[in-house]
Amino acid sequence: MLDQFGRNINYFRISVTDQCNLRCIYCMPDKGIDFLKEEKLLSFDEIYKVVKIVASLGISKVRITGGEPLTRKDIPKLIHHIKTLPQIEEVCLTTNGIFLERYIDELIKAGLDGVNISLDTLKDERYKEMTRGGSLEQVIRGIHLSLERGIKRVKLNTVMIKGENDDEIMDFVELVEKNPIDVRFIELMPIGEGKAFQAVSNDEVQERILKERDLIAYRVENRRLGPASYFKTPHSKGRIGFISPMSHMFCRKCNRMRLTSEGFLRQCLHWKDGIHLRKMIRDGMEDKELKKMIEKGIYNKPNKHGFKQNCIDEDSKRMFQIGG
Ligand code: SAM
Ligand code: SF4
Repeated sequence: MLDQFGRNINYFRISVTDQCNLRCIYCMPDKGIDFLKEEKLLSFDEIYKVVKIVASLGISKVRITGGEPLTRKDIPKLIHHIKTLPQIEEVCLTTNGIFLERYIDELIKAGLDGVNISLDTLKDERYKEMTRGGSLEQVIRGIHLSLERGIKRVKLNTVMIKGENDDEIMDFVELVEKNPIDVRFIELMPIGEGKAFQAVSNDEVQERILKERDLIAYRVENRRLGPASYFKTPHSKGRIGFISPMSHMFCRKCNRMRLTSEGFLRQCLHWKDGIHLRKMIRDGMEDKELKKMIEKGIYNKPNKHGFKQNCIDEDSKRMFQIGG
């Protein structure tokens, strides 16, 4: 459906947990996190109820994210269930990739269409440091398996941080040249732990690539692609994408709504308002009423994010809680 600014909202991101098996330095603190108690998490039945409603309102693509979604049991079952909805054309997953090799076959059987793997460095030791303990080897095996098993879309999400990994920009470009995968450079946002680091703007990333390669704009026909702009180098097998929430406000092209793991319908990544669906569902609100609330929520999506206004309180700001 169209929101009040005429944007076609067709993409729904669901965070299924705030837990994670890694502690990426710019996303999660090492200790002292107050994770949600199990009873506060939306159950799979509750998630399905919401997806059924948003599907009837025009959502055709769903992404499962977190925290780390593969730390929650039975994610393939949830994907399979969502895929039974006739309006849903695509279900994708965003993961750190550590558990991919364990679950890839079940995920494919469930109907997974695409996987985004977050990977900020191609160096073993650095990966261990940036994730506070993760194994790069495991992630690389997961990426290869996803390609081998024929997942339609395999994309890497890469956040460049000054002084941490920004010497690896060309290593990622070379990876895309040799393999049929996309790398998307996502600008670091000043959320939670991210505030302690210095972002590298995508203008700078592009400039650095342009010193060594031509970048050919790649027109994407997929109407659900949203805010990324894509390029190829003359011989690349995959594409290079740029998602630039900070340097080029992408909100005009935003096509998404979010559901947090505690059942909060969030109209924007960085916005204070939203709808507490869990309470409404558990208080027994009928689907017809829920649909009206959600429809209103979609229609009232704000026209742009509030990073510059710093408009949500500290607790609700972190990426692993919102679902990045
Ligand atoms: N655990 C999964 C993963 O890492 O892919 C899914 C959730 S994670 C919160 C989703 C994405 O958010 C990751 O690609 C991560 O790099 C990104 N992210 C986390 N904090 C961020 C920040 N402050 N700015 C930009 N991206 C961030
Ligand atoms: Fe976990 Fe993903 Fe955040 Fe890293 S980016 S700490 S993997 S939720």
